[in-house]
Amino acid sequence: MRCPFCGHLETQVVETRVSEDAGFIRRRRRCGHCEKRFTTYERPDVSFPMVVKKDGRRVEFAPDKLRASFALALRKRPVSTEQVDAAIERIEEKLLNLGVREIPANRIGEMVMRELKKLDKVAYIRFASVYRSFEDIDEFRALVDEVKR
Ligand SMILES: [Zn+2]
Repeated sequence: MRCPFCGHLETQVVETRVSEDAGFIRRRRRCGHCEKRFTTYERPDVSFPMVVKKDGRRVEFAPDKLRASFALALRKRPVSTEQVDAAIERIEEKLLNLGVREIPANRIGEMVMRELKKLDKVAYIRFASVYRSFEDIDEFRALVDEVKR
């Protein structure tokens, strides 16, 4: 953060306050050079990126849809809700931390696959076989072999 008085680049945060209702963070800073104090207001950008579908349409990221994908793949599988919640949280956190405005839908699909692979091999194969829409049985066999290894 550049000092507005002398332009020095090193400033020190002397106080941080989160303004709950307005949704911004207020910081008191002190310049390391001229020692003058100033206040900054930062609005944390915590929105999910827009999802870009294969046909180019942009849709809003829907946590419900993500959960539905997991539920479908994990149907009747011995995986607890807590484990699913944790996996979904990891994906959501990843999406927020990417700091991008848009993300291709297939990248989210890959994230789901990675999590399912750790949770349950059968669910992973279920999801991947639909998601990757295999053309023939050899591709499917290659996936099963990959999981077995
Ligand atoms: Zn200064």
